[in-house]
Amino acid sequence: MDMQTDLAGRHALVTGGGTGIGLDIARALAACGAEVTITGRDEARLQGIAAESDRLHALAMDVSDEASVRDGIAAAAKARGPVSICIANAGIAEPAPFAKESLDHWRKVLRVNLDGVFLTLQAALATLPPEMEARMIAISSIAGLRGLKYAPAYTASKHGVIGLIRAISEEHIGGPVTFNAVCPGYVDTPIVERNAAEIAARQGISDEEARAYLARGNRHKKLLDAEEVTAAILWLVSPAARSVNGQCIQISGGQV
Ligand code: NAP
Repeated sequence: MDMQTDLAGRHALVTGGGTGIGLDIARALAACGAEVTITGRDEARLQGIAAESDRLHALAMDVSDEASVRDGIAAAAKARGPVSICIANAGIAEPAPFAKESLDHWRKVLRVNLDGVFLTLQAALATLPPEMEARMIAISSIAGLRGLKYAPAYTASKHGVIGLIRAISEEHIGGPVTFNAVCPGYVDTPIVERNAAEIAARQGISDEEARAYLARGNRHKKLLDAEEVTAAILWLVSPAARSVNGQCIQISGGQV
């Protein structure tokens, strides 16, 4: 049985679609036939990736800027149709111990990780005609379900994402649009590379040891591959997941 969902004719939008988890998701959705808008602040990088495939479309958009998100998503919908698959993935992970967390930095993380998801989902929803089926998915984190030390802003933002998804899913029960969150553990992406480099520098250990330290943050003590997150997304956008709503899917090698 072919489990691949045919997404021909669908318009998917992936924020942060130029790198890491978002890029892996965007490529997979395009491979299933969707027209995929990939967004981020680094337009040159997005253009480079869009050159890979006729189905990948670059859009410069800062998720923390309301006008940028509303105008960007409206323009993408005008070009490629209503956003019936929206993956709110853009996010930043910049650790800081609580006592040293400045209000400015706290607000920066919340603006990207939480305001960004709010703006993205609201703007995507606004492109849908009544009764059009759609799947809205946010990438939260295991930090959305438990506290991550030295990352109070990140943890609060990712908890907030789950609360937001749960609230909107309740509003839309029985309707054509579902809202879910995916909560990965540590995934081998540029975010983890940067964090490993910082830990290595701070603790005077090798990058390899720092990666092993992060891997131990997953219950099975292995870093995840982005494709493990993508597999959950492909299921959530499939017809088989039509009754899955308001959930957070943990992918972390064990219970959080
Ligand atoms: P990544 O490669 O650093 O991806 C982050 C993406 O977000 C980049 O493409 C970046 O693009 C975009 N972005 C950041 N700030 C933005 C802004 N203000 N406006 C628009 N786009 C912005 O890391 P990743 O691991 O794939 O992370 C993707 C998501 O997964 C994040 O939400 C992260 O919190 C979550 N997550 C990651 C892990 C992990 O271990 N890697 C675990 C759990 C959850 P530009 O630089 O072009 O703006």
